[in-house]
Amino acid sequence: MRLGHQIAAVLRGRWQAIAAEWAKVSPPTVRVELVKDRPQRPRKSRLYVTQQAGQPAFGAMACPCGCGETLNLRFFGERRPRWSIQWDRRRRPTVRPSIWRQSGCRSHFHLTGGRVDWCK
Ligand SMILES: [Zn+2]
Repeated sequence: MRLGHQIAAVLRGRWQAIAAEWAKVSPPTVRVELVKDRPQRPRKSRLYVTQQAGQPAFGAMACPCGCGETLNLRFFGERRPRWSIQWDRRRRPTVRPSIWRQSGCRSHFHLTGGRVDWCK
């Protein structure tokens, strides 16, 4: 292999490593999609929200860790757990408190302005 090709291969490998790191550090923005029913198979980086009387009722999203599980959220009533949700004009949601799976992958993250912030 010529030196130029070797350098190109190394750079390509490095770039892939950098891209993988970046995907972890900066996952794609989550956006709200208002729906009548929670989808069977939520797409990544979507937070599906159902409404009752114009207020957010339930939410569903694919776990951002990629485990394939669906996270289900409730936005109304007194029973716990319950979350509050807001979103901006670009449909980027802020959900409080943090979302913490108690089983499976045990993902724990904050969703702020459509951004997933992992808790250690
Ligand atoms: Zn997960």
